[in-house]
Amino acid sequence: MSVQPKLIIHGGAGGHLQSEEGEIIVRQALHSVVEKIYSMLLDDVSAKEAVVKGCQLLEDKTIFNAGTGSVLQSDGQIRMSASLMDGSKQRFSGVINVSRVKHPIELAQFLQSEEDRVLSDNGAAELLRELNVPIYDPLIDIRLKEWMQERYDHFHKQMAGVIAEQELTLPHEARKGTIGVVALDCHGKIAAGTSTGGKGLERIGRVSDSAMPAGNYANDDAGVSCTGVGEDIMDECLAAKVVIRVTDGSTLKKAMTRSMQESQSRNRDLGAIAIAQSGAIAWGKTSEVLLAAYHDGSQIGDTLSWTDRQELMGCCE
Ligand code: ASP
Repeated sequence: MSVQPKLIIHGGAGGHLQSEEGEIIVRQALHSVVEKIYSMLLDDVSAKEAVVKGCQLLEDKTIFNAGTGSVLQSDGQIRMSASLMDGSKQRFSGVINVSRVKHPIELAQFLQSEEDRVLSDNGAAELLRELNVPIYDPLIDIRLKEWMQERYDHFHKQMAGVIAEQELTLPHEARKGTIGVVALDCHGKIAAGTSTGGKGLERIGRVSDSAMPAGNYANDDAGVSCTGVGEDIMDECLAAKVVIRVTDGSTLKKAMTRSMQESQSRNRDLGAIAIAQSGAIAWGKTSEVLLAAYHDGSQIGDTLSWTDRQELMGCCE
């Protein structure tokens, strides 16, 4: 079987980007990853491998809140979460609140073939030791400064980083949230991956949606990666809901539209990217912006200048 591969990635959702320069930087970062990963898909790399590689590249980009450049929690520590779902096996794996690792998605990848497939803090740390993964500090200066400022302000904010460039006024340091990748490979298989530093400033032990099927889900019919306020995503069970709607016969466009309408009616703050087996690509948001880019088989597109709050979703069918 040879299917036209499809790819969509995101770098978070939230408030609008402050500067045009910030938009250019985010666009370059997203497009460069789309280019690399799409050419891998054309070279017959599986959706699962492509998703892992795409997540690694995004985790390495300090502008995004995942891997290097992750936000700090209320106690000043970084705890990251990531998950991988192989749609063809309908198999989920992930790590929750892991520290001192460069690529949390690699742990999720390793766990795909294990019996115990979701590990939290201590278990994930133990696994890192077992696998001899080098200790890595994902902290960057700007995130530390942000946390120190918040401490000074007595932690009034509910979420860090999503619109942080506003305070820090350095466009080259503009940052957004969580990252995610969804791919359809040449064999018609789908995978989804999501990786995050969390909301930022959260209390110790808070669990992100990014390592739950609510935030990252795929089967043979569709794959979805979410971003935004994790609690809102969990309450909507967003990723799994969109996928199941497609399995139940809805087009991806309809599934995304309905799920976003429901989210908006409950004042949720979130975004999602998706691909269906039909080759349709879709994205949706109730947040002001969703930072996503895609390859539809003929060209790269993105959602960066899509700030119309009335419009809940977009797609290429
Ligand atoms: N969904 C992530 C969380 O709540 C944050 C984000 O997407 O920016 O942990």
